[in-house]
Amino acid sequence: MQRLEKFYEGKAKVLYSTDDPDLVIQYFKDEATAFDGKKKGIIEAKGILNNKISSRIFKYLESKGVKTHFVEMPSEREMVVKRLRIVPIEVVVRNIAAGSLSKRMGVEEGTPLKETILELYYKSDALGDPMINEYHVKAFGLAEADELRRIEAEALKVNKLLSEFFDERGIILVDFKLEFGVHKGEILLGDEVTPDGCRLWDKTTREKMDKDRFRRDLGKVEEAYREVLRKVME
Ligand code: UDP
Repeated sequence: MQRLEKFYEGKAKVLYSTDDPDLVIQYFKDEATAFDGKKKGIIEAKGILNNKISSRIFKYLESKGVKTHFVEMPSEREMVVKRLRIVPIEVVVRNIAAGSLSKRMGVEEGTPLKETILELYYKSDALGDPMINEYHVKAFGLAEADELRRIEAEALKVNKLLSEFFDERGIILVDFKLEFGVHKGEILLGDEVTPDGCRLWDKTTREKMDKDRFRRDLGKVEEAYREVLRKVME
């Protein structure tokens, strides 16, 4: 597999085309951003840690019947993935109130939810990813009705699988964000599943093990990501 030209650079990853038109290489950087890019920094070795964490999680999800874009991890910072037509929707699943939900609803972080919450956001950096619902998805043609149904069902299935996976490793999956895309007519889970886009709390101490350590200047960011990698490899 040959890495050809860079065709997209995001906040945490670079995408390269390859000699296979169906495959793309995701290159994981150490750059971290928060608050719509207003806060910037470097988390040492984050690219390597996130690539390894996400590869492990994608493999686990595949083994449980979730279709993902993951193909292989040829090097520490590279992941070979299937080329996707990205659906411009970010799906957030929440098990416990935190972050923007706590603010919006005026509840303390850590408040349990009676039911899992699924939220949709329009993927647009320029607009700051506004929250939308299924009517917006239909009205603006962001996805077909059956695609959205599939995406929501997959996101809830991923929540069940990963909540259990992390629980067995002493970690609470508080909330997380997923992105999906279409490859050869099929909906696949795309992007990455890492502490950049998941809230992960230690089950006994409730200490944060995710990007909130960077967002809120809590220190020991790299250490936390390293600990997540160690636990997901168990
Ligand atoms: N999230 C993300 N990218 C975004 C917004 C949110 O990965 O652009 C993740 C975030 O890490 C958290 C979950 O989605 O695990 C819910 O985030 P929330 O809406 O609480 O927003 P935040 O507090 O991160 O601004």
